[in-house]
Amino acid sequence: MHRARKRFGQNFLIDSSIIQSLVTAIAPQPNDNIIEIGPGLGALTKPLLDKLEHLEVIELDRDLINKLEQLKQPTNKLTIHAADALKFDFSHTRYPRRIVGNLPYNISTPLIFHLLEQLDSIVDMHFMLQNEVVNRICARTGDRNFGRLSIMVQVKCSSQKLIHVPAESFSPKPKVESAFIRLTPLKKSLVPKQLEQHFKHIVQTCFSQPRKTVNNNLKKVLSQNKIIDAGIDPNSRPQQLTLENFLALTRLSQI
Ligand code: SAM
Repeated sequence: MHRARKRFGQNFLIDSSIIQSLVTAIAPQPNDNIIEIGPGLGALTKPLLDKLEHLEVIELDRDLINKLEQLKQPTNKLTIHAADALKFDFSHTRYPRRIVGNLPYNISTPLIFHLLEQLDSIVDMHFMLQNEVVNRICARTGDRNFGRLSIMVQVKCSSQKLIHVPAESFSPKPKVESAFIRLTPLKKSLVPKQLEQHFKHIVQTCFSQPRKTVNNNLKKVLSQNKIIDAGIDPNSRPQQLTLENFLALTRLSQI
């Protein structure tokens, strides 16, 4: 028996029909280079191994790693990286990569940001996240949930909410509902590489006080006239801006 560790965000999948629908959504092909983050007790690992020639997993909890070692036999298809996924350099894995995981909720957002920095050679990503985080990622301009996470993901990936997963599908049962999402990197990021840091800064500054106007938030970095030059009403709220608006603000903040 393994006692679930809260600090590692351990909520193990126990609903076999949900597990089946997640694997169907991932649609693994035998030669795919799938990397699973946080395999835990193997709820997804085992059905994935059945369909793959090889599988790499990244797990932090040493106790679980000992149990996962047993999945190496008899086929020797499994590679275990005993590591913190937040610090993991994915260039050490086979590529082109497909990333999957029922992510520990406490680190899911920083982990997505970590992966957004290394999207080269990533074909797609399938993640179980808190439903609320999925809604934030998929939110569009004008939505209540539209914010920094939506923007930073959407300039690099298309997103698709696939399956709503009730709390009863896990043990221990989490306090929140979950959802399974697919993120597919765009062929080209909407933000040119040389503007990335400035774009990040503008978005962060713009949402520092989400209920205040764009003008109020950007006061220290852009004049009201420049905001108008970007074709934006300075009295609008940050949630009302489009991805292109944030890019235009970034360009003008450079001049
Ligand atoms: N995949 C299993 C399942 O669906 O039942 C377990 C999912 S559980 C929500 C999250 C897993 O991520 C746990 O196995 C936990 O130990 C692991 N984990 C937590 N923090 C991690 C980190 N920083 N790097 C890698 N794995 C981590």
